[in-house]
Amino acid sequence: MSDTNPFATTSPATGAALSPVEATPLDAIDAIVDKARKAQAAWAATDVHKRVKIVSAIKKRILTRAEELAKVIHEETGKPDVEALLGEVLASADVVAYWAETLADELEPFEAEIDALAYPKKAGLIHRDPRGTIGVIMPWNFPFALPLRTLVPALMAGNAIVLKPSEITPRTGKAVAALFEGLLPEGLLSLVQGGGEAGARLCKAGVDLVVFTGSPTSGRKVAHACADALIPCALELGGKDAAIVLADADLERAANGIVWGAMMNAGQNCGAVERVYADAKIAKALTDKIVAKTKALRLGDDVGPLTTAAQRATVARHVEAAKQGGGEILTGGEAVDDPKAKLGYRPTVVRIDADDNALVADETFGPVVPITSVEGADEAVRRANASRYGLTASVWTKDVRRGEALAQKLRAGVVTVNNHSFTGAIPSAPWSGVGETGWGITGSPLALEHLTRPRFVLVDRNTMIREVWWYPYTDTLRQMALAFARLRGGASLGGRIGALFALIGLLMKRRGEITKSDPPAKSSKVAAAPAAKPDPKPEPEKKAAAKAEPESQADAEP
Ligand code: NAD
Repeated sequence: MSDTNPFATTSPATGAALSPVEATPLDAIDAIVDKARKAQAAWAATDVHKRVKIVSAIKKRILTRAEELAKVIHEETGKPDVEALLGEVLASADVVAYWAETLADELEPFEAEIDALAYPKKAGLIHRDPRGTIGVIMPWNFPFALPLRTLVPALMAGNAIVLKPSEITPRTGKAVAALFEGLLPEGLLSLVQGGGEAGARLCKAGVDLVVFTGSPTSGRKVAHACADALIPCALELGGKDAAIVLADADLERAANGIVWGAMMNAGQNCGAVERVYADAKIAKALTDKIVAKTKALRLGDDVGPLTTAAQRATVARHVEAAKQGGGEILTGGEAVDDPKAKLGYRPTVVRIDADDNALVADETFGPVVPITSVEGADEAVRRANASRYGLTASVWTKDVRRGEALAQKLRAGVVTVNNHSFTGAIPSAPWSGVGETGWGITGSPLALEHLTRPRFVLVDRNTMIREVWWYPYTDTLRQMALAFARLRGGASLGGRIGALFALIGLLMKRRGEITKSDPPAKSSKVAAAPAAKPDPKPEPEKKAAAKAEPESQADAEP
């Protein structure tokens, strides 16, 4: 698809024509970012509680528009509308509620610990400032929930947003932006419609951060572009997630959970079950259950079509590779043109023992579950961890303690015991990964690590004319530095006690050295400096300063 007309035009579910979409001219993107930047300055200066209240208003809109939103999502992606309602619409309302409750507290400035002996009469506050203007570039598989999981906290935190939805789901992108209509200052949230070229342009249009969710291939390009622009990016990329089923697992629950985890959203889920490692003792029984439950799934009602023809071709290619590589297709394995799932692919189960096969090594993003029999938990963990991805993983066992212990050994951002993949819907849970899954974080207060930056403000109430470490450098200062080294761990306990006494003496001596004013310069007349007016301090700063200045601190001053 060229970027002049990159948009999907028919529904993958029914083949019906979709409404036309207008691409944003590439040359307009710089000006859009510029406008966002201007709007952001005033927005950042708006009280955080007010910002939170304004953005929170979209919760009601999401809930009252639930049915129409699910329809747009269903038509563009093909996913059953119940999946759109549960996984996208309701989950997003929860995201708004979570941040409405927590964001202002998370952004409260907090005090830095400062050693009063080394740095007397100093108080420091750590503030969390917005990043500025954020380019948000999104994929098509959760086209409503994924942008909102970033937009909501980012806007509340004082940022401006330029959102580029996937070219496969531009209409859902428009519905996301429409939620904010009339709520935000003009230009604070803008939509750029287009394909990869538009995304690439956005990365170098003057944004302060790019939040990207998509494939590792595009993620790499975004990382390069951001490196060139010297701006940070948060990347949430692919997955090849493993479910490990131990011999003592409840096989009925494990089979139900794995089938849902693999087939939900037709497997087009970064956290889908894409590999199963089952203990040899139960592998046959588990596989039989998974096959039976997969056969019972109804195309279109339970499992939607693939969202794009290219995606269906990837699925077919991987299944073919599995066949060539000794895999046994136990059910499914064929593309179907169903009235409710035009780009359908029969839910598929494959028995295979070849971790380097494309079906087991590469992200399939389709309704296919490969099952491999292993000799116990150690082998399962070793093989699960051998992936270049590391998003989610699950362990299925009745021994929850053992499950938790194995969770510590798995190389993944999210590990669930006796469940899989759904935690992306829990707003207080971090969603992140390792390896080629990228380093982005959404959900939980940790998401703010990307969306804000620290501003450290230190206020010094030391009235001495010099700090001990300022000029002049003398032997006393050198001795003090060495005494500090002994005191902080460079000597035995006895040596440290000795160093403390030495330090007290040295501090007194140093104080004598540094309290002398320099002789006035002979040649120049120095105008008397006007008396400094005390700076009015914001309340939290005053509190921090008061805390950091115990009565006895004057004594600690060298
Ligand atoms: P994609 O990489 O093809 O496209 C994602 C977005 O990037 C689109 O908006 C696209 O237009 C844009 N883009 C493409 N080239 C670009 C470039 N050079 N510069 C800037 N933007 C560019 O991915 P996709 O097919 O839309 O999504 C599927 C992938 O997303 C899968 O790999 C899936 O695992 C991953 N994903 C990850 C998560 C997660 O949380 N880790 C969530 C959902 C999807």
